Amino acid sequence: MAWKTLDAMDFAGKTALVRVDINVPVENGAVSDFTRIDAILPTVREIAAKGAKVVLLAHFDRPKGKVVPEMSLRQVLPALSQRLGQPVAFAEDCIGLPAKEAVLALQPGEVLLLENTRFHAGEEKNDPMMAASLAALGDIFVNDAFSAAHRAHASTEGIAKLLPACAGRLMEAELKALDAALGNPQRPVVAVVGGAKVSTKLDLLGNLVGKVDALVIGGGMANTFLAAQGKPVGKSLCEHDLAPTALAILDKAAETGCRIVLPVDLVVAREFRAHAPHEIVTECPDDAMILDAGPASIAEIGTLFEGARTLIWNGPLGAFELEPFDTATNAAARKAAELTRAGTLVSVAGGGDTVAALNRAGAAADFSYISTAGGAFLEWMEGKTLPGVAALEE
Ligand code: ADP
Ligand code: MG
Repeated sequence: MAWKTLDAMDFAGKTALVRVDINVPVENGAVSDFTRIDAILPTVREIAAKGAKVVLLAHFDRPKGKVVPEMSLRQVLPALSQRLGQPVAFAEDCIGLPAKEAVLALQPGEVLLLENTRFHAGEEKNDPMMAASLAALGDIFVNDAFSAAHRAHASTEGIAKLLPACAGRLMEAELKALDAALGNPQRPVVAVVGGAKVSTKLDLLGNLVGKVDALVIGGGMANTFLAAQGKPVGKSLCEHDLAPTALAILDKAAETGCRIVLPVDLVVAREFRAHAPHEIVTECPDDAMILDAGPASIAEIGTLFEGARTLIWNGPLGAFELEPFDTATNAAARKAAELTRAGTLVSVAGGGDTVAALNRAGAAADFSYISTAGGAFLEWMEGKTLPGVAALEE
């Protein structure tokens, strides 16, 4: 699949409508984390430098189609101007007269932020009228909000069909990284899927066993697989009712030739708390719970990574918030980081807890790509078409 990028567009003298994700955390009226703002700056600066008026479309929080003053994007304005290093104008509404007048008042190279798109019910309904009202404000649509691309909204999907559309630099980087990991990867490809529950990641597991060469299953969801194979899991987190589903996934893996790697040894404890007394076992005692994978499992995962060319990772291998049950997650993360640094592995990871775990392990910076897109990343790993991305396809 191919997407147009900023390179394909002539911005001089045009008005560019740029969909961004600046749904940032705000504490006591001030933005407390600039990550998402900083991530869009290259796109904004490039379009401004090419002589276009830059008009930013964004949502904030979940006002559900009504004007909720506490969810105004105005509160993001000071941080946005400060990080960008130039003033940013603001319009009280993302469509209609306030938006039109603000765009008219803008000079090429200047930046305007429009009020929360989700103040209108038409946004989340992908109402064609809403999309048309947005499109009427400019000449070119640029989508730089991969994290909102799994939703077909007026400002992500509807508008892309009405104007010449392309991906911004952040979206482009995300698409390239994801394509390198699962679209057109160098083999062997290893996937790691961990986390709490199988039930939240069924589609993910189903898609991956058809695409990757080996699948490491870890964390709480590994317990469901072990139980399905008739192994004792004691008091572990386990979805016993999903045993047939787990077995079906194992069957599919056998058919497609995907090697499944489950823990061969386990770290068990009697309490779910940090530093709870623990032991390494191959079978979970009745009164214990599995909180991490053991050293033999860690070694097996390390060897697997060494032979791989591509790694895609979602979900920690244990209860990583509780020391020392972060051991397997940390060891695997550091191994992946080391191999990526050495140039033998392309490593891509995403997911809220996964990103936190990789940061804790000090491994995130060495990964080839860390997706902060949350739901959009997961849907992409599930093999789903993201409407906001599909609308940009050439
Ligand atoms: P992500 O947010 O990266 O998609 P998940 O939300 O699926 O990841 O899973 C993360 C959670 O899984 C963490 O809170 C972690 O403590 C939990 N978890 C992992 N292994 C176990 C386990 N063996 N027992 C209980 N919880 C676990
Ligand atoms: Mg999570």
